Amino acid sequence: MSMMPVQDAIDVMLSQVSPLVATEHLGLAAALGRVLASDIRAEVTVPAFDNSAMDGYALRAVEAVPGNTLPLAGTALAGHAFEGAVPANNCVRITTGAVLPEGLDTVVMQEQVEQAGQGIRLLHAPKPGEHVRKAGEDIAPGQLVLSKGQRLSAVDLGLLASIGQAEVTVHRQIKAAVFSTGDELIAPGQPLPAGHLYDSNRVVLTAMLKRLDCDVLDLGLLPDKPEAIRQAILQASDEADVLITSAGVSVGDADYTRQLLSELGDIGFWKVAMKPGKPFAFGSLGTCWFFGLPGNPVAAVATMDVLVQPVLRRLAGEPMAMLRQQPLAAVSAETLRKTPGRADFQRGFYQQLDGQLQVKPVGRQSSAVLSGAAKANCYIALEQERGPVAAGEKVHILPFYQMLR
Ligand code: AMP
Ligand code: MG
Repeated sequence: MSMMPVQDAIDVMLSQVSPLVATEHLGLAAALGRVLASDIRAEVTVPAFDNSAMDGYALRAVEAVPGNTLPLAGTALAGHAFEGAVPANNCVRITTGAVLPEGLDTVVMQEQVEQAGQGIRLLHAPKPGEHVRKAGEDIAPGQLVLSKGQRLSAVDLGLLASIGQAEVTVHRQIKAAVFSTGDELIAPGQPLPAGHLYDSNRVVLTAMLKRLDCDVLDLGLLPDKPEAIRQAILQASDEADVLITSAGVSVGDADYTRQLLSELGDIGFWKVAMKPGKPFAFGSLGTCWFFGLPGNPVAAVATMDVLVQPVLRRLAGEPMAMLRQQPLAAVSAETLRKTPGRADFQRGFYQQLDGQLQVKPVGRQSSAVLSGAAKANCYIALEQERGPVAAGEKVHILPFYQMLR
């Protein structure tokens, strides 16, 4: 079987999944990171009234002759408007956000005037309309504020609040089941017997899923016993939208996982032309999507990020057009080892240097060691057919996205 290019693997999965249809109404406080299920249009005008952008004096620009003294007709505070008409050649003391009194059109900063008896004397002629925020200059009624499929950021929530919206309709969360298998694995916190290692994959994968706002069902660390693995797969297919496991999907793997998956679902075992990675499984267990990642920790992280992330985001309701990360161009500070045949996602650290991005590989580029990956802030994405890279050559980088922060 020939190897499958990375983008082909992603495209095959994306052609099969569609967004979860169920939606829910949430208050803004609960909606951070959730995906909007419908367009949001403003029903109000923002700002709702002409107001002052500064602390100062509101006046009519035509009456603002430098040297002249304008008597003070009153005060306009935020939340407490000046009532009534302002006589000709008068001004009103105004604070930021206060309603601009009827008939006035300009605000002069307090630093630009001198106190003169019961009024002010202007030092300069203001620009007409200066320091006034006009009604509707931010948002007009009917205007599209946020689009369906958008994942809500902190600023998006502020924007919704600013148009008076207290609730949003979002796609329901993905329920994602995770388990680890292997008699060599021990849960962190326990003593480590000889020949064993800690189960780190379940911790990383759970955290990555939470970053993507999934509801995680942790099915634990399972022994290499077919009955235990069968029960976990059945529970996941009953209760979860996706099941993500690591290890046990390699071709020629003696693990039970592969055998059980073939029996209980419709799963393809792929060799993806990706490093770290390669063994990867995708398919369905009834209504539950299955992703089988390689066991090596860095390979598990990279396949989760590069292959599974776009599919989860699609399932969560994000539009196809938003799923592909645009690589950045950078200069490699060092020689990079690379053989043609697999796309390589080396872990790198990039920074701006002399007006351009420079990247260097960090730590040992082994798929078994997380310590190098922990210092990285990007992948150095070397194309499938590319050979070794000399220092100074241009490469593409992919800054770590949401899941890896
Ligand atoms: P496998 O895919 O079962 O051949 O495993 C490949 C490597 O990944 C082996 O060294 C395993 O010990 C290691 N591995 C498998 N599962 C985990 C896990 N949950 N956490 C850390 N390492 C793991
Ligand atoms: Mg194993």
